[in-house]
Amino acid sequence: MPVRKTYPIKITLFLLTSTLIFLASTFALASNNNVPNNSDSSIPYCVDPDWMPYEAIDDGKHIGISSDYLSIIKQHTNLTFTLVTTSTWQQTIKYLKTGQCHLVLMLNKSPKREKYLTFSDVYYRSPNVLVSLREQPFIQDLSNLNGRSLGVVKNYRIAEYIETYYPEIQKTYVESEGEGVKLVAEKKLDAFVGSMLSLNARTQQYGYGNLKVAGWAGPEDELRFGVIKGKEAILADINYAITQISEKQRIDIFKKWNNVRIIKEFDHKLLFQLLAIVLVITLLFILRQRQLNRFNRLLSEKNKELESLTQVLEKTNHELEYISFHDPLTDLYNRSYFSQHIKDKIHDINRSKSPTCLMLVDIDHFKKVNDELGHNVGDEVLTQLSQVFNEVIRQSDIAARWGGEEFVFLLPETSVDSAKKLATRLLNAVREHHFNKVGQVTVSIGIAEYDHKSDFHNWFERADKALYRAKDAGRDQLSC
Ligand code: GH3
Ligand code: MG
Ligand code: MG
Repeated sequence: MPVRKTYPIKITLFLLTSTLIFLASTFALASNNNVPNNSDSSIPYCVDPDWMPYEAIDDGKHIGISSDYLSIIKQHTNLTFTLVTTSTWQQTIKYLKTGQCHLVLMLNKSPKREKYLTFSDVYYRSPNVLVSLREQPFIQDLSNLNGRSLGVVKNYRIAEYIETYYPEIQKTYVESEGEGVKLVAEKKLDAFVGSMLSLNARTQQYGYGNLKVAGWAGPEDELRFGVIKGKEAILADINYAITQISEKQRIDIFKKWNNVRIIKEFDHKLLFQLLAIVLVITLLFILRQRQLNRFNRLLSEKNKELESLTQVLEKTNHELEYISFHDPLTDLYNRSYFSQHIKDKIHDINRSKSPTCLMLVDIDHFKKVNDELGHNVGDEVLTQLSQVFNEVIRQSDIAARWGGEEFVFLLPETSVDSAKKLATRLLNAVREHHFNKVGQVTVSIGIAEYDHKSDFHNWFERADKALYRAKDAGRDQLSC
């Protein structure tokens, strides 16, 4: 019995103990699994809380370039993420080391960091620069600091880089880029090193007009995701998502976060500058236009003057030509014209071999007219006689006043017979004409045909001799 009684108690105790141990171990296991392991649920991640435009925490929200890239990663994976807020980059590093964050979004690879992080592929590149006061000489790069003090954010990859490769540089560690830039602006540091985009944003944001980019510094930032040891499994998904980021998405993100505020301010300046330039150009254009218009008016006035002067000149030239070729009293060609014309004509006549006659006409007893009735009446006779000539001769004939009361006619394409007929018509016409205050006047005519061998002088002499013969024969007649 006692045995029977004791036995069940032992079993019961054993069962109870076993159950307790099982429950305790199950509970311990469950709690152990729950705390660090979020791989199945949302991934806790940290960022630099003060590194705009790359990333920051604003009112508990993650903002900046890395927040947009994280959104793209989400689109291409099934991963979900939860922000673990920190107040400094140092705290972010601490949380990564303690496992409170599994993921950090934007940082460079470095030997120190590789001890507790595994890195994704690079998804964003940006150069590092040195910032100094404007009045400082150009530094160019880290090797030219020459004893100047340099600020750098503690635990940033560039700090690690400088410690390794430039141990001689006199460094001052700061908590954030904001603090470093402020120290340079306040002349407490000679220079500060950091990422170009964020430094540019800060100097503009805080109105540090006395600062400038004084040189390049170290290698460019090659920014990646960092995953703590033990959580590397998510990297494959992240790396795949990185390959899916399009160029347009990269550009859009860059534009969105890069200097939005600065561009606005600059726009005003630029707008005023552009307006001023446009105004100056417009004014210059108007002035130039007015000058051109004035000049054009002047030019057209001068052109008109020139035109009328040209007309006057042409008219004068014509008059001069007319005067030089015509006899002023009778309006017939003068001796000078006839002499020139006949020389040219002889060439044609020689070539064509056509018959051509010369006819000399002399007023009979003209001296008597002058003596008895006066020189003016004599002039009037000469004028009227030239009109009679013009009525009788043909279009192709050339009549000229040779001198005094003597006239010469060139009769082209005219044989002696034809010339005689013309001379007869002329004798009759003169004879029949009533001359004012004089009554009847007669003329004598000598005709000579061109013989195609002698010159004008010889030809004229023959006509003159014929004229004398007509005179000798009693005047008022023709002779050949
Ligand atoms: P003949 O019948 O022999 O030709 O006699 P003529 O009087 O006509 O000849 P003469 O040579 O003796 O005189 C020519 C005159 O012509 C002399 C001059 O008074 C006159 N005479 C010459 N030229 C002009 C002129 O331009 N005007 C006027 N009114 N008379 C002129
Ligand atoms: Mg005469
Ligand atoms: Mg005469």
